[in-house]
Amino acid sequence: MSIPIFDGHNDTLTQIREAPAEKARGFLERSDRGHLDLPRARVGGLAGGFFAVFTRSPGLERSIRPVVGPDGVERQGEWTVEFPPRLNRRTALAYTLSVMSDLFRWERVAGGAVRVVRNASELERCLADGTFAAVLHIEGVEALDTRLEALDVFYEAGLRSLGPVWSRPNAFGHGVPFDFPRTPDTGPGLTAAGKRLVPACNRLGVLVDLSHLNEAGFWDVARLSEAPLVATHSCAWALCPSPRNLTDRQLDAIRVSGGVVGINFHKGFLRSDGDFQAPTSLTEIVRHARYVADRIGVEHVALGSDFDGATMPDDLPDAAALPALIDALASGGFGEADLRLIGSGNWLRVLRRPGGARSSLTRGSCYTNLVSCQGASGTSR
Ligand SMILES: [Zn+2]
Repeated sequence: MSIPIFDGHNDTLTQIREAPAEKARGFLERSDRGHLDLPRARVGGLAGGFFAVFTRSPGLERSIRPVVGPDGVERQGEWTVEFPPRLNRRTALAYTLSVMSDLFRWERVAGGAVRVVRNASELERCLADGTFAAVLHIEGVEALDTRLEALDVFYEAGLRSLGPVWSRPNAFGHGVPFDFPRTPDTGPGLTAAGKRLVPACNRLGVLVDLSHLNEAGFWDVARLSEAPLVATHSCAWALCPSPRNLTDRQLDAIRVSGGVVGINFHKGFLRSDGDFQAPTSLTEIVRHARYVADRIGVEHVALGSDFDGATMPDDLPDAAALPALIDALASGGFGEADLRLIGSGNWLRVLRRPGGARSSLTRGSCYTNLVSCQGASGTSR
């Protein structure tokens, strides 16, 4: 069964840009390094995806510490990660422009094989004719000013999706740290600038990505946004209690908004013990896809690989291995129509209305109740 896949998130731009000389690779040539390049996408049936521009925080890897109990003993299988320092806007802006230019250069030199798409019609044409489609995404908008002037410029350049925060605070909101185990209810919601950013994105037709936002920020977006709610690369908190994952109430809000969850392939967000180093099968991805589909419906399930930004299951080492995931999803009870929705149909649906026009359900009391009851407890179930 040939199922074209459009994927919710990769960090390939950043990985290729930052690879040291001895590990250098490109996007248009096949490599055995990293997870994604055009030839491996072709082999795996990957038709395109959201390409994230992410400005790294220095020193994050060194800040992971075990959790110590009141008895002074380290708790097995629990850890905490300090927030990396805030990024300076000038640094983030220069880096973001520079990395965006890589994507446009790939498009230019690929001879028509790669296209940076700006709407659902362009994506549909690419899916039909085999052109690899990239949607430009910024993960953590430190590059934006709080007057949102740069947002208009980025939009004109092709930006169609952004995550207000990565897992660190910025002028727009507060991300979740990578602690484990922990709920996503980790701090305050969007700042005043963040609350202006959401309707500005709606107006332009830029998706607001909820992955990495804490729970208070999630509910702020749910209240403010006119568009379907999307989490491009997250999993189910009920199965893996990482604050990067979505609680059942968050999943329910995504359902009633007509939105989508891109299931992340990172071992640490899939496994119930959060262990991102243990041997792990891609059937863990199926477990999360099944849980989300059973809770909110298969029309809200998609893929958000996190290729080149995460630790992949051992039997899914790169994009070329994606047919094995499709086979596993089929074995997990998803039929061909389901797989077409998960593969690309659900992403296409939300990209057709990036700035608004949620499902009619959102106007009913169901959605209002779901969103307005947050904040009292705030904490996930
Ligand atoms: Zn991410």
